[in-house]
Amino acid sequence: MYMKQKIEALKKSFKSEIENATVAKDLEQIRIKYLGKKSPIQALMQDLRDCSPEERPEMGKLINTLKQEVSVEIDTHHETLQSKELSLRLIEEKVDVTLPGRRSNLGGMHPLSQMLIEVTEILIGMGFSVQECPEIETEYYNYGGLNYPPDHPARDMQDTFYITPDILLRSHTTSIQQHMMENVQPPIRILSPGKCYRNETITSRSHVFFHQVDVLYIDKDVAFSDLLATKEEFYTKIFKQKIDLRVRPSYFPFVEPGMEVDIKCTSCAGSGCVLCKHTGWLEVAGAGMIHPNVLKEGGIDPEVYSGYAWGGGIERLFMLRHGISDIRLFTENDVRFLSQFSS
Ligand SMILES: [Zn+2]
Repeated sequence: MYMKQKIEALKKSFKSEIENATVAKDLEQIRIKYLGKKSPIQALMQDLRDCSPEERPEMGKLINTLKQEVSVEIDTHHETLQSKELSLRLIEEKVDVTLPGRRSNLGGMHPLSQMLIEVTEILIGMGFSVQECPEIETEYYNYGGLNYPPDHPARDMQDTFYITPDILLRSHTTSIQQHMMENVQPPIRILSPGKCYRNETITSRSHVFFHQVDVLYIDKDVAFSDLLATKEEFYTKIFKQKIDLRVRPSYFPFVEPGMEVDIKCTSCAGSGCVLCKHTGWLEVAGAGMIHPNVLKEGGIDPEVYSGYAWGGGIERLFMLRHGISDIRLFTENDVRFLSQFSS
C-alpha cells in the first residue's frame, strides 16, 4: 500500500505543476523531472524489487499507467499552450484590414520644366533650334562681347555673382550670342534656354536664380516687323488666345533699338486687374534689333546682316499664366503648390 500512496502523491504533484505551466518551456522541465532517468517514477521502478511477488504485477501496471498519463498529459498541455501562444501572437500582430491604405504619391514634372518644354516646343515649331551654353561664363560672353561698356552698372558685384574677376555665373542666357557667331555663319535661328543668376535680394518678385529663354535670329533683311510678328505668334500660342502686343523703348547694350515688350493683360483684356496692377498690360520680355557692334564683334558684317534678339523669364511666364504672385514658390519644394501642376 505504501507504493500506491507514493504513486498518488506523484500524480498530485504532477497535476499541480502542469496546471501552473504557462509556457512550453516549463513543460519541457516537467517532462525531464517526471520522465527522466533520475525521475521519481524511475525510482518507483527500483522500489518494485522490494514488493512481494503478488503485489508486483499490479504495482508495475500502476507505474506504467502513471508514466503514460504523465506523457499524454504533457503532450496535450503542450498543444494547448502552443495554440494559446499562437492566438496571442495573432492578436498582437493583427492587421485591421478596414483601415484606409496609405496613398503613395506619384511624382510629377516641375512646373518650370513643363513651361520650359512648352516654350521650347513652340519655338522649335516656328523654325528655331535649341542651343545651350555654360552657366559658368567668362566676363566676355556675358558682358564684354555684348557691347556692355566697362563701367556698366550691371557688371557690378552688386548684380553679378563673380567667381574670379573674369569668371561669373551668367546673368542672362544672352551669353549664347557670341558663342553662336564665333562658330556659325548666318542664318542663325536659335533659342537658348537655361538658368541665370543675379545677386539680388530674394523677394516675391525676384530671386537669385531663375530661368530664361533667349531667342536669336540673324540673317539678311531681318526687320523689326519680323520680331513683332514672331513674338505675337509665340505669346498667342503660350496664352492660347489672340494676343495684343505693345513695345516701349528701353535700353539694353546689345540691341539698338531696344524695347520692353508688353502684352495686353490676359486676365482682364486690358480693363485693369490685380494681375496687371490695373495697367491693362503685362511685361513679358526685353527685345531689340542686334546692335551693329555685337555683330561686328562676332565677325558678321552689319551692312549685310541684321538680326533680332529677345529674352524673357520662364518663371514670369508661368506666373502670369496661372496668376501666381510669388516667385519663391518655385524653389520651396512645397508639394501643395507643385502638385497642382503635376500632369
Ligand atoms: Zn489685368
